[in-house]
Amino acid sequence: MLVKELTPFLSVSPQLSADDIAQAAKLGFKSIINNRPDGEEQIQPTSTDLAAAAKSAGLEYRYIPVISGHLIDEDVNVFRRATSELKGPVLAFCRTGTRSSTLWTLSESAHIDADVLIGIAASAGYDLSSLRPALIDRNAQNEQPELVDTTQGDVQMGRAHTHDIVVVGGGAAGIAVTASLLARKSQLDIAIIEPSDVHYYQPGWTLVGGGVFSDQQTIRDEASVIPKKARWIHAAATSFKPESNTVILENGERVIYKTLIVAPGLKLDWDAIPGLHETLGKNGVTSNYKQGLAPYTWELIKSLGEGAAIFTQPPMPIKCAGAPQKAMYLACDHWRRKGTLKNIDVAFHNAGNVLFGVAPYVPALMKYVSKYDIDLALGENLVAVDGANKTATFEWTDEAGNPKRADKHFNFMHVCPPQSAPDFVRDSPLSNEAGWVDVDPETLQHVRYDNIYSLGDVCSAPNAKTAAAVRSQAPVVAKNIIHAINHEAGRALYNGYGSCPLTVERGKIVLAEFGYGGKIMPTLPFIDGTTPSRMAWFLKEKLLPWIYWNAMLKGREWLVKYGYDANRGHAAPDKQPKQ
Ligand code: FAD
Repeated sequence: MLVKELTPFLSVSPQLSADDIAQAAKLGFKSIINNRPDGEEQIQPTSTDLAAAAKSAGLEYRYIPVISGHLIDEDVNVFRRATSELKGPVLAFCRTGTRSSTLWTLSESAHIDADVLIGIAASAGYDLSSLRPALIDRNAQNEQPELVDTTQGDVQMGRAHTHDIVVVGGGAAGIAVTASLLARKSQLDIAIIEPSDVHYYQPGWTLVGGGVFSDQQTIRDEASVIPKKARWIHAAATSFKPESNTVILENGERVIYKTLIVAPGLKLDWDAIPGLHETLGKNGVTSNYKQGLAPYTWELIKSLGEGAAIFTQPPMPIKCAGAPQKAMYLACDHWRRKGTLKNIDVAFHNAGNVLFGVAPYVPALMKYVSKYDIDLALGENLVAVDGANKTATFEWTDEAGNPKRADKHFNFMHVCPPQSAPDFVRDSPLSNEAGWVDVDPETLQHVRYDNIYSLGDVCSAPNAKTAAAVRSQAPVVAKNIIHAINHEAGRALYNGYGSCPLTVERGKIVLAEFGYGGKIMPTLPFIDGTTPSRMAWFLKEKLLPWIYWNAMLKGREWLVKYGYDANRGHAAPDKQPKQ
């Protein structure tokens, strides 16, 4: 828990957990203010849970949610009223503490000088200097004028950053493309907007859930992966204004670009399945898709000796479409080696109608389905979970077209959640009908805004959403941006490459590698991806993590092939980024 004291009466902090609230009571706080709207992020306790934690710790609690980047005068009034009513000391929190600090600063602005307020916030680690005009204005009027709603028109209270290239998201795609750009032109002015302090190697989570890697092996500080020549804007983007080449941040600041790259990944929609969020991480319900939960998967696998084990897969698209099966095969292999598999009923409830979307890999996988005696329930979609009673509800359509629904008991359940574009992308002018960033599937350039590109899980290209795809996409986007900046003809073309190493048993992998239209695209000629191979396991366990950290995120474009069209990009001058 990171508590920053603004005054003896009021401190602020980043997101609190229920345990943190108990700790806050021990530190002497008397009241909690929650300024973060529920559901802003998947890994976020609900206000109801936090209110309960505050109650049991004997603290007063107020929920004053402020939408990031949309702070209005009424929010300040409600906050001011709460601080006048609550017992102190008060601990206010949001995602980072910035919104709470902003609310306090504005609520005190009528009687405290702007520079004093900004100085207090700065000494607590919050740079609120962009608020100076609003604070001076309020102080001069000695009243609280209406703040500018940042959803409307131009943002007047937010400071503006200006960069030639702005990248939204510092995950696999954002870092790889920045590194690829800088490898081509080291003097480029690039800023990465990324709120997280940590960077995850998500392909490693399958191996954490299978007891091969530790969770720590998949985590690095974000600061260590941001390329040295790029600027890190440590905040979340909340909206896009492509007509004015602007991205709005959660604190209302603007980031103005000449070229924009959109790469904030996708949204794991845990709340789409009633009961799931509450029971994840307990009652035998786990998911390798949730950061920090793969060790629990392995704990459950080790401790299960008999009963029903369910693995689920939602409708496409999902990232790494093979990951739900990978978790299942590694679990079955462990139970087989321990001699307990015969006592465990394993079922794979897959909302899709095929085991794997690229046919040549299915026979090898089906052999493992038979070997482990897995009940394959195709077309069955998880729609509700009752963790306490260990029951999962599935829906499907029978052969006559009638909707069906049934409850299944489980002792262990691995869930892959439904997935969609992040809300702020889906609700923006950049999205297509399905919510993804609307790009040309080959050039990865936006179909309506010439100076915008997208790659990784968030883009609309119909490839398998994988880090392997990013490895091929990053050089394509980098090359196309450099070409466009230089007004050169020709465009690099992404061929749809993606890869899914299916861990069918500990030590063996079916290495699916394919491009658009399901075309098989093996990278290494000596690995036959359609049969289980030890060499592919070695690649997954030893080589690919090393390649990820030391090549892909460093602008070394290894194991990458892409096409080229000399005639594309010639066309009209309006096909060039607006510089
Ligand atoms: P991410 O890597 O998720 O990064 C998105 C970034 O955007 C994050 O840093 C996030 O903090 C940031 N962000 C979010 N919101 C905002 C905002 N509002 N403003 C700014 N930044 C924001 N791929 C493989 O190739 N092989 C595998 O074997 C494999 N296995 C997998 C197994 C599991 C269990 C999972 C979960 C994934 C697996 N993947 C695998 C998929 C792979 O990890 C993803 O496809 C890849 O990480 C996508 O990269 P990305 O940059 O698009 O998204």
